[in-house]
Amino acid sequence: MKTGDNDLIKKINFGIILDTIREAGAISRIEISRRTGLSRSTCSAICESMLSQNLITETGKSISSGGRKPILLELNIHAGIVIGLKLMEGEIIGAVVNLGGEVLLKKQTQVPRRLEPEIYIEDLKQFIHELINTSQTVLMTNHVDPMNVLGIGVGMSGRIDSTNGILLESSILEWKYIQIGNILEEHFGIPVYLENDVNTFAIGEKFFGIGKPYSNYLCITIGEGIGLGIVLQGNLYRGHHHGAGEFGHIKIAYGEDAPVCSCGKKGCLEAFASDNAIVGYVHKKDGRDPSIIEVTESAEKGDPVCLEAFALAGRYLGAGISTLINLFDPEALIIGGERAGAAHLFMDGMKEVIAENTVYELAKDIDIHVLKPDTDHWVRGVATLAIKEFFSKPGV
Ligand SMILES: [Zn+2]
Repeated sequence: MKTGDNDLIKKINFGIILDTIREAGAISRIEISRRTGLSRSTCSAICESMLSQNLITETGKSISSGGRKPILLELNIHAGIVIGLKLMEGEIIGAVVNLGGEVLLKKQTQVPRRLEPEIYIEDLKQFIHELINTSQTVLMTNHVDPMNVLGIGVGMSGRIDSTNGILLESSILEWKYIQIGNILEEHFGIPVYLENDVNTFAIGEKFFGIGKPYSNYLCITIGEGIGLGIVLQGNLYRGHHHGAGEFGHIKIAYGEDAPVCSCGKKGCLEAFASDNAIVGYVHKKDGRDPSIIEVTESAEKGDPVCLEAFALAGRYLGAGISTLINLFDPEALIIGGERAGAAHLFMDGMKEVIAENTVYELAKDIDIHVLKPDTDHWVRGVATLAIKEFFSKPGV
């Protein structure tokens, strides 16, 4: 066998063992060998190397029925940090996350809207430097050694070639073909991973969150846009042109009278169930011109028109989701996005329409999870892009 092959195998085995330790929480060397199918001597040698690099630590004894109790190995989640960034029009959210997926520090900054990509990326570099500097100070103040920055994960809306770190197109930012991964990698000298933001959400949930026990699930984001991350048989599905998951643009209505969507086409789900659609419904009914936050607050106080606007959006969402269930037969739906916090206002209608329109009772025992409406799952998701590479995580 060539040296190169040997090195590659060692690297793969290293990632497999590290991931086994991470998933188990605490595990003996013998159990690692059993679960991975690698020989005891290979496992021991790799574990020694990990211990010397401080990637894992030895902890207490496992419960054993007799004889010598094996020492357990645990991941040292403080062995390194990664940076997670969510890029939006007008705003960047960034976080420092440890190898256990804990958000140690979160910051956000406003950037002018409609910025040229070159200027936006310069602002982004500055923001990343500030984030790294602040994180080092925070860690030292807490008597934790400043840690290795192992990588940077970047998530944004649009069609993204994640293998090559290229934004192919973003209709929100109106950018085309920007090699964001390369630009940041050259500047910071550490690996950078770029991915569609809804996909990062799906990856983060698989690695650290609600998606962990499931092989087949759908992450649906609801808010200004309607997005979808598809995990099938444990793998994220990106599509042939990196364009899978444009759930907001499936057709709900046809014909001249169908409402126009932000994509320029007519009758898309987003034109019926996004923030704009909800606000638009209220305006059409009684001439008010409220923000989506005002509609939510009024609905919560019992305003009938605002309640109706949410209920109707929920029914349209249900129609869209029943199509997804009929197509993918998932075990679970994970609902996030800016409007997840208003789920109580649209969930009943959504579930009703799902039940009415799915075949073979596919929706009967489906688990529906609604995430808290904070940004932690987003930044943890983008950070996971870099963390999962470190563990050579197969699949997602
Ligand atoms: Zn559309």
